[in-house]
Amino acid sequence: MADLTEPVVVIGLGRFGAALALELAGRGTEVLGIDHRPKVVQALSGRLPHVITADSTDIEALRQLGVSEFRRAVVAIGTDIQASILTTSLLSELGIPDIWAKAVSDQHRHILTRVGAHKVVAPEHDMGERVAHLLSGRILDYVEVDADFAVVKTTPPREVVGMPLRDSRVRSRWGVTVVAVKPQAPPMGRRSEFTHATPDTVLAYGDLILIVGPVDSVERFAASE
Ligand code: ADP
Repeated sequence: MADLTEPVVVIGLGRFGAALALELAGRGTEVLGIDHRPKVVQALSGRLPHVITADSTDIEALRQLGVSEFRRAVVAIGTDIQASILTTSLLSELGIPDIWAKAVSDQHRHILTRVGAHKVVAPEHDMGERVAHLLSGRILDYVEVDADFAVVKTTPPREVVGMPLRDSRVRSRWGVTVVAVKPQAPPMGRRSEFTHATPDTVLAYGDLILIVGPVDSVERFAASE
């Protein structure tokens, strides 16, 4: 499993890169932030312990900064596609074993993979899809964990409330599994929190539930009255 405290170099400190670097640093991960705009670096210098002005398309600059010592790197350059691709290929040349890169289009994603990115993220594209799911039905939170499989926070349709899950036929009717429940009205003296669902769990209308299943199925479940 990845060591969460393993240092990370974040290259490109625009909106995405800066948010990522600050979040990692806030969680106790050592972060080296790099951007070629002095103004950007200056603005972050009070909030990130290690932030440096450098051009990441210059392999000598990367070497001097000790970038090759890092085991994890994120290329968060989006607008300048050429710089994003070149930087990714240089990191690959330096032998960094875990390179993440941000893509702004499908072609960009494809090239990043070809030049050595191990994981490509497309935050604008993915967030657009996510918001579309959040806008439909009763879906309160949505994470696609694989191409066609999602974990969803929602509430139960009326026809499954008031009976144990084993009798509700949730899996045979909708093809989804209820994995956790947070009661809207917790038992006296108890805080409302998510706990594992069991075959004996009885859902109430308005409870929050986590369901998992194929994207079509979770959507159908969340659209049922
Ligand atoms: P966002 O949409 O997340 O703000 P941008 O692509 O606009 O993403 O920002 C990327 C950041 O990467 C910018 O701050 C830019 O200065 C920086 N950047 C672009 N090219 C290089 C490079 N060759 N070396 C270092 N930083 C770069």
